[in-house]
Amino acid sequence: MRIGIGHDTHRLAEGRPLLLGGVRIPHPRGLVGHSDADVVLHAVTDALLGAAGLGDIGDSFPDTDPTNRDRDSADFVRETLRRLREKAWHLVNVDIIIFAQEPKLGAVKADIRRNLARILGMDLSAVNVKAKTGEGVGAIGRAEAISCQAVVLIDQ
Ligand code: MG
Repeated sequence: MRIGIGHDTHRLAEGRPLLLGGVRIPHPRGLVGHSDADVVLHAVTDALLGAAGLGDIGDSFPDTDPTNRDRDSADFVRETLRRLREKAWHLVNVDIIIFAQEPKLGAVKADIRRNLARILGMDLSAVNVKAKTGEGVGAIGRAEAISCQAVVLIDQ
């Protein structure tokens, strides 16, 4: 068994869609990035890569590569899972925490969980999604950015 951790932060700005775990969330501001800037899928990708000892998301999907521009981040997760399966790893469970002052995520947490489980091809019981505000402190608390932490367990 192996464990992996992932973290990601993206800045919030007007005129961008807000995607968290592949779910489009209605909000006047979205996350800025080279791809679709989905912090949840980026953190999960990094956790998977870390568990398998495969470096980080920047090594595998560099933002200097034009094919990654505005790319659906679910591709990063699926491609990473494919690489893990090649090495006979399978995913046991995923737990994530999303840090967002706004929008409030209580109403969409279940949607994010369901969609993340679908992308990962896992039972809902093996995927957990938690959400925290920044308690008004720092960049998250000022609603300048959204972060996500992910932890995964893989087995062989
Ligand atoms: Mg990112």
